[in-house]
Amino acid sequence: MRKSVCWLILLTLLISFSFQTYSQKIPSGADAITSADLESYVSFLASPLLEGRMNGEPGLEIAQQYIASQARLIGLKPAAGLSYFQPYSMIKKSIDTEKSIMSIIPGTNDTIITKQPVYQIIHDKKLIIPESSVSERITLYNVAAIVEGSDPVLKNEYVIISAHVDHIGRSGGRINAGADDDASGCAALLSIAEAFQSLEKKPLRSILFLWVSGEEIGLYGSRYYVNNPLVPLENTIADLNMDMIGRVKGVADSTDKTPMTGPAGVFVITDNQSRELTAIADEVDQGTLLDFDYSLSGKNHPLQLFARSDHYNFVTKDIPVLFFTTGLHSDYHTPGDVIEKIDFNKLEIVTKTMFRIGYNIANRKTRIVVDNPFSKW
Ligand SMILES: [Zn+2]
Repeated sequence: MRKSVCWLILLTLLISFSFQTYSQKIPSGADAITSADLESYVSFLASPLLEGRMNGEPGLEIAQQYIASQARLIGLKPAAGLSYFQPYSMIKKSIDTEKSIMSIIPGTNDTIITKQPVYQIIHDKKLIIPESSVSERITLYNVAAIVEGSDPVLKNEYVIISAHVDHIGRSGGRINAGADDDASGCAALLSIAEAFQSLEKKPLRSILFLWVSGEEIGLYGSRYYVNNPLVPLENTIADLNMDMIGRVKGVADSTDKTPMTGPAGVFVITDNQSRELTAIADEVDQGTLLDFDYSLSGKNHPLQLFARSDHYNFVTKDIPVLFFTTGLHSDYHTPGDVIEKIDFNKLEIVTKTMFRIGYNIANRKTRIVVDNPFSKW
């Protein structure tokens, strides 16, 4: 009897010790991330009632009000003073006659011929406006919220985690719901914020959650943000961006232009601005069910995914990034990008993994080193 009591005590000690070791590695907040929550967020954001969340249209503002109200419910701190909204002004130029071709020179020597509306941040003066266009001033918004760090000094440094709310509206009268692009990322960002907020002891550094707009028309929301940051850029230590993180490779996703991941894969795209950042991601990856695939990485990759979402504006400011996507499926930018095709179990795993990476970066004693900044390329 006494012997078995001794064994019982030893076993209890062993279990509590291994639990402590485990819980130090995996912050408990990850439990707050569930596929059910993610599905409820995506079901609102990808609802046809939001008509594809087009920039300048009411559907996008409803989506952003929803995100801000969820941020308030979670208890996040507004990042723009008392507000979650960071406004910026754009000019939207549309063609109003049969002369429907326009040439633009957006900051480069390239000329683009387009029949689509053209958008531009108001202080940018390099657009050639033909006589036949009509101009309209519109206000767009980024949504931003903060969980403050626990260290009195290091809380002045920030990890940014980002996703874009806007999508492309309708095409040919049909709604592009954008369930994967990027309602999946916006939902993940709400769940990650909830996970951080639920922690009794917050990480040393602060986290800024950034839901941008203007992505689909030229990465304008994130460009505006990096030129008008809500927290100092020099104290911004990394950006983890996610765009289209809810899909699994299907039978139609097999061309060179639609590289997709299987049930346990996610593309992680970077150009190794910080070897330490990549090492942290790999370390977290070891303890998850996911496999990281870096094959689309690098500024010279032909698909150019490294420059095709909002993280790139952070790259240009020498802030290291990791960009997460489950891939470019055959429903990309079509009315087929609907909620029924999202794999919420996979989305939960990707979301938890991003939370752990964000936590690890924010909770390190020393700031990650940027050994390969954009300004030295
Ligand atoms: Zn996108």
